Amino acid sequence: MNIHEYQAKEIFSTFGIPVPRSRVALTADQVERAAKEMGGHCVVKAQIYAGGRGKAGGVKIVHHPEQANDVAKELFGKKLVTPQTGPEGLKVRRILVEEAVEIAREFYLSITLDRATSRYCLIASPEGGMDIEEVAHKSPEKIHVLTIDPLMGLRPYQARKIALALGLTGVVCEDCVELILNLYRCCLDKDCYLVEINPLVVTKAGWLLAMDGKMSFDDNAVYRHREYPDMVDYSQLDPLEINAGKYDLAYIKLEGSIGCMVNGAGLAMATLDVLKEFGGEPANFLDVGGGATREKVTEAFKIILEDCDVKAVFVNIFGGIMRCDVIAQGIIEAANEVQCHLPIVVRMDGSNVEEGKRLLMESGLNVQVGDNLGDGAKRIVKMLGLGGK
Ligand code: ADP
Ligand code: MG
Repeated sequence: MNIHEYQAKEIFSTFGIPVPRSRVALTADQVERAAKEMGGHCVVKAQIYAGGRGKAGGVKIVHHPEQANDVAKELFGKKLVTPQTGPEGLKVRRILVEEAVEIAREFYLSITLDRATSRYCLIASPEGGMDIEEVAHKSPEKIHVLTIDPLMGLRPYQARKIALALGLTGVVCEDCVELILNLYRCCLDKDCYLVEINPLVVTKAGWLLAMDGKMSFDDNAVYRHREYPDMVDYSQLDPLEINAGKYDLAYIKLEGSIGCMVNGAGLAMATLDVLKEFGGEPANFLDVGGGATREKVTEAFKIILEDCDVKAVFVNIFGGIMRCDVIAQGIIEAANEVQCHLPIVVRMDGSNVEEGKRLLMESGLNVQVGDNLGDGAKRIVKMLGLGGK
């Protein structure tokens, strides 16, 4: 689960991490008033669930309140496209008005879960800011990574090592040690899989400040934080993903034309691979899970069909806990309800498979049954007229 920069900064300050003075605004008029409070000279920052805003025109310095109003009018409702949003972009509905800070140096600092070691790791670079990806690519030696022992936690000497690696000395170095330890505390307390400050800056006046903030919570821990569901900005999410969440379906939109309904994440991955192997492009990853009911299958099928990019549907299900005839009924019900005429290929196996296949073949839908995964993938690609192997 993601949150906005302004929310991350609110949380940072409760952990003693210094952030610039700011206000969130929902209208251009509010932006203007907030700019006036900041003394006119301030930074107007679009709040979207993605980084890379600076380079996409989503972070602008203004010099007087009327200019802030103009910039806000331009940004509100606009779809900001950054390297992290995909070509669709994300709509700006909230703007952070922040004091303009005179920056002396910009650093990168984050804590994230490293899947290889199954541990948190602290990542820092003396060359933070908007070109961090390039730094990581061209000068990886400038990125410092420290794996944190979960039993020992992050020790002050380790935080100091990182602060020194950033080139800090004296009081600022000690402040940075404290900030790093606070960031770790924040990461654990809030069950984050990522906390990132890019840039962490030293101002010309010599203060450390978190200039940007990104925080992502571990979805599996959301139940431990009552306030999290209310923090979600649904305008930033794909409506189909929101719908899928309601029915406890794992749905991820992809860019191709074949909707995939699968049970189990491993089977989903294999399905995407095999589809690609035969020249098909998956439109999504939809996992209905192990013990899905007929209703769940129906909803899943409807979600797939609501996506206008979907030109064909591939169902790949192993009927273990779930019976194949129940799955077939769910598919038939959903397809009839939304009057689906798209080509469908179903590959299923397991309990009551013959009955499931019979129901599908007699349903009157534009459906074929695949003998195995490869055969199913070949059929759907052919039905779509994609050629393929
Ligand atoms: P993003 O990472 O999405 O591009 P940031 O919040 O990091 O957005 O802003 C981009 C750049 O804008 C920062 O690297 C920093 O140089 C500058 N910046 C951001 N906020 C301020 C501010 N309040 N005062 C001065 N400069 C800022
Ligand atoms: Mg940033």
